[in-house]
Formats: sequence, C-alpha cells, structure tokens
Amino acid sequence: THFGFETVPEAEKAKRVYKVFENVAQKYDIMNDAMSLGIHRLWKDSLLHVMNPQPGAQLLDVAGGTGDIAFRFLEYVRSQQERQRRRSARSMQTPSWKDISNNYSTEEEERPQESKAVVCDINKEMLKVGKQKGDSMGISAGLSWVVGDAEELPFDDDQFDIYTIAFGIRNVTHIDQALQEALRVLKPGGRFLCLEFSKVTNPVLARLYDAYSFQMIPVLGEVIAGDWKSYQYLVESIRKFPDQEAFKHMIEDAGFYCVQYYSFTGGVVAIHSGFKL
Ligand code: SAM
Repeated sequence: THFGFETVPEAEKAKRVYKVFENVAQKYDIMNDAMSLGIHRLWKDSLLHVMNPQPGAQLLDVAGGTGDIAFRFLEYVRSQQERQRRRSARSMQTPSWKDISNNYSTEEEERPQESKAVVCDINKEMLKVGKQKGDSMGISAGLSWVVGDAEELPFDDDQFDIYTIAFGIRNVTHIDQALQEALRVLKPGGRFLCLEFSKVTNPVLARLYDAYSFQMIPVLGEVIAGDWKSYQYLVESIRKFPDQEAFKHMIEDAGFYCVQYYSFTGGVVAIHSGFKL
C-alpha cells in the first residue's frame, strides 16, 4: 500500500515499534490529546470503572508507557480507601448490630495491604517521561517502572491481581505469547484487562473515522511531533488489529475464562476482560 509499513517482516516489527515510541516519547501525551480530542482520557477512565479495583490490589500495567493507567489505578484505590475509612468512622459513631457483635474490630485489623502498581514497558524513553510525570504529580509512592517485553515478562508466576495493557497489545509481535505471559504472572482469580482500538460497527461512523484517521493523524504527527511515519504506522496497526469477537477468541484460546468485551465510542475502542482460574 501507499503506507509502506504493511509489508514489514515480523522480525523488523519490534525494531520499528521501538523506534516509533523512542521518537514520540516526549510528545506522546500531547499527541494523544490532540489525536483523540482528549477522548483517550475518558477511555482510560472507563477502564478503571470496569476494573473497579479494591484497596490492596496489585496491578501490572504492561506497555504502560507514560503511566496513565497506573496513575489512575492508584488514584482510584486511594479514593476507595478514603471512602471506606470515612464509612467506618461513621459506623463507629453509630454502631450497627454487626459492629457490636464483632466487638469493634480494631482499625489495625481492617487496614488492607497497600496497593502497588508496576508499569512495564519495552521502551525506556516512555518510562522516563512517565516517571517524571509521576514525580511532578506527586503520586510516585507505590509505583515502580520496569523495562520489559510483554512477550517475556521479567516477573515470577502468580504475582498480580490485575494485568492491564492499554493501546499496547497491537504493537506486540506475537500477541498469543503476550497473552500467555499475562496468564502466567496473574494470581489465580486475577483479571486480565485490555483497552485497545477495535472495529467501528456503524458504517457512517466507520467512514468518518477512516477519513479522520488516514488523513488527519499523520498530518497531526508531522505538525506536532515532526514525525509523519510513526503516525502512519499507528493508523496502520489499528487497521490490522483483530475485531472485538476475534480478539475475544484469542483471549479464550490463551486460557482465560469469562471473557467479555465492552465497546466504547461506537467500537473505536473496546475493553476486553478475562479471568485466570
Ligand atoms: N499504555 C500507555 C497509554 O495507554 O498511554 C502507552 C501506550 S503506547 C500507544 C504503546 C506502548 O507499548 C509504548 O510505550 C511501547 O513502547 C510499548 N510496547 C510496544 N511493544 C512492547 C512490548 N513488546 N512489550 C512491552 N511494551 C511494548
């Protein structure tokens, strides 16, 4: 095709992907806002709503880039924790039968383990930008930044309650291998969640979306980041990624259970969820 990326051989793909994100790292956040008109923030918020993590949950965010998912996760669990703390303070004032029968369990007993998030990405430039952002937002506590490949994660088995990968899996060369690794590092009962571009089903919206992405995104890439090619790659990788149902089957084939998906913005993105049993 006129894009020239479609014929990239498999062995070349990882190198190209590395270059793309190395080039865009500094401008990555601005580009996300510009290209999605800020909507990527709402999609990421939706991922947290679907996840609804409880205080104490341990997260691994793969292809985590500049940390958007991990930051949201920590903010979410901390606000949940605050809410629970206030609720239990209220119930101490007006004891319920449960409290009385429990003989006021001490706060010490109720305090959950601290939630932690690990951001793992193959590209150290992306992680560097993320770490700086975390420091300046003052939410670095509970976060760690690890260079690693989704296809060969540098973690032991059964470590995490939640595995996320947002706008990352389509960049991975062997998706089945990345799914196997997700399954391996999750604890039994742990949840896999993937936010990714998907298939727009409404034909009118599909045409608008096609026109926008093929014509506008490389232009924005050139104007804002001085990098047309990287953004051509982006559009192309979105087109090649399997649709909602096909990806659901891949997750099931990897060995996950109760696999479901939720489409957002007419299918521009989807969140897939599955459990390790
Ligand atoms: N999750 C972040 C977000 O939603 O803003 C970043 C997404 S960014 C589009 C894709 C990220 O995937 C890049 O940071 C890139 O370095 C990373 N990536 C690509 N291939 C990878 C691999 N094999 N293993 C881990 N990360 C990878």
